[in-house]
Amino acid sequence: MQEYDVVVIGGGPGGYVAAIRAAQLGMKVACVEKRATLGGTCLNVGCIPSKALLDSSEKFAEAKHKFDSIGIECGSIKLNLAKMLKNKDDIVAGLCQGIEGLFKKNKISHFIGAGSLLDKNIVEISGKKPEKIKAKNILIATGSEVVSLPNIKIDEEVILSSTGALSIPNVPKKMVVIGGGVIGLELGSVWSRLGAEVEVVEYLDHIATGMDSDICKNLQKSLQKQGMKFSLSSKVLSVEKKGKGAVVTMESNVDGKKSEIDCDVVLVSVGRKPYTEGLGLEKLGVKTSDRGQIEINHHFQTNIPNIYAIGDVVKGPMLAHKAEEEGVAAVEIMAGKAGHVNYNAIPGVIYTWPEAASVGKTEDLLKKEGVAYNIGKFPFLANSRARAISDTEGFVKILSCKETDQVLGVHILGPDAGTMIAEAVLAIEYYASSEDIAMTCHAHPTLNEAVKEAALSVLKRPIHI
Ligand SMILES: Cc1cc2nc3c(=O)[nH]c(=O)nc-3n(C[C@H](O)[C@H](O)[C@H](O)COP(=O)(O)OP(=O)(O)OC[C@H]3O[C@@H](n4cnc5c(N)ncnc54)[C@H](O)[C@@H]3O)c2cc1C
Repeated sequence: MQEYDVVVIGGGPGGYVAAIRAAQLGMKVACVEKRATLGGTCLNVGCIPSKALLDSSEKFAEAKHKFDSIGIECGSIKLNLAKMLKNKDDIVAGLCQGIEGLFKKNKISHFIGAGSLLDKNIVEISGKKPEKIKAKNILIATGSEVVSLPNIKIDEEVILSSTGALSIPNVPKKMVVIGGGVIGLELGSVWSRLGAEVEVVEYLDHIATGMDSDICKNLQKSLQKQGMKFSLSSKVLSVEKKGKGAVVTMESNVDGKKSEIDCDVVLVSVGRKPYTEGLGLEKLGVKTSDRGQIEINHHFQTNIPNIYAIGDVVKGPMLAHKAEEEGVAAVEIMAGKAGHVNYNAIPGVIYTWPEAASVGKTEDLLKKEGVAYNIGKFPFLANSRARAISDTEGFVKILSCKETDQVLGVHILGPDAGTMIAEAVLAIEYYASSEDIAMTCHAHPTLNEAVKEAALSVLKRPIHI
């Protein structure tokens, strides 16, 4: 039986990054992945294909609605959806091959098949040729899977999960998105830009839950301007197939009124749950929470010390970069190093247009915790680069400690907010004050100058407003 220092189960961003870092640290590493390709949910059916479609659809919408206003006349703009979808698939395939290459470079053994724990040191790999391998340490990085609502069965033709919504062969006339979270807003935006009438049905009274309320309200306004409709405070009771489409029945949480929406497709984007099926956790007595997450200590160890777990399958935000950070920290700990993740400095981004990006605490949370804070806000309308590119929606908002000026949270709604937030993450990581940001030279003209101006606003001395 082959023996490894670490066997990683799951080749998503948590697992494959951990495998590479472990190899860099001199360990003998195997990674077991049941998909034919590496990259996990993120690369195969998540972050990357959705961002490819968000980018293509944004370009299409710009060509259709914006180019004319800046003096570019293209005549009639036509969509070739099949080509757009193929471009997305090619991007994914290229990146999957890239990870294969990285595995070869780092001499990581890649096993294709489902891994299960026979005992605390043996992983059995199903597949064409079942085999067993021995491991000093095991890292579980099996990710998450889509959840639906009771009585709503996803068929990936009319009633779709995010996976189905990445490959709809024809632009639907009407799409209902159940759930106004990150995935629903991003994929709703894609199909809205490509011509579908999109209505988002959300149980809560706001979209983008978890983000700062300022962002939630203003993002909704921006998306409404682009043509998306929202039914908030509405509970979906049922989705029935009707003819070639479906009918969604919902009930208002405010007055109990029932209503129906006829549509061509429904996207169910109400969340994801940890995926542990077939791992054999119960047999070994690996503890899970009542939400199905594998329980770990702050060293990512389960109750069986040589079995570690990271990423979507454990607690915390279901984000690729969170999984990566945890994967690296876990194998560094196995190697006797001081692996660590700063959970306060994990950014969250919604890749709509404008984008919404956030790190640290929201104003709502600071109020709830009774923390005294200062606020600085700067609108992109007053940023010269945003004016130059005709993308002026949104703002930067910085929250800092009233007593020490330490940056506690940064929230950005605006063009490329997801890229801009990196500066704020660094500020939080280094315990910077808003004065530190304000004293840092920012290139002109850039969108990031709005971050500096928001910091100056905390100090009550912005220049351009
Ligand atoms: C549509 C969509 C868009 C998203 N966009 C973003 C985004 O923009 N940014 C972001 O940060 N996050 C995004 N996410 C979330 C992100 O994809 C996840 O947080 C991330 O993939 C989690 O990484 P992971 O390594 O924990 O798990 P996964 O990526 O889910 O990988 C787990 C892997 O384990 C494999 N596996 C499971 N069980 C076994 C087994 N027994 N044996 C072998 N292999 C097994 C699975 O096949 C899978 O490949 C998105 C998700 C979706 C669905």
